[in-house]
Amino acid sequence: MAVKKKSAKLHRCPTCGMLVRLTDEDFPFCSDRCRKIDLGKWASGVYRISSPILDPEVLEDLGGLDGDRSGGHNGDIDDE
Ligand SMILES: [Zn+2]
Repeated sequence: MAVKKKSAKLHRCPTCGMLVRLTDEDFPFCSDRCRKIDLGKWASGVYRISSPILDPEVLEDLGGLDGDRSGGHNGDIDDE
C-alpha cells in the first residue's frame, strides 16, 4: 500500500489553538464560545464606528429631555 498511515486530519481552533475534529459541529472552532469570540473580533471593529451611545453629548441630551419632562408636561396634566 502506497498510502501512508496518516494520523487523523487535525485542525486547530483559530481562537484558542485547541485541536478540532472535522466532524465537530462547531468546526472550524473548538466550541461555540470560540466561534463567538472570533466573530466578536470583527464585530467590535464595526461597533466602534457606529456606537454613538457612549457619546457624552448624547448622554447630556437624554438628561436634558428628562428634566424638561418633569417640568412642562406635569403642568399640562395638572391643568386638566
Ligand atoms: Zn477554541
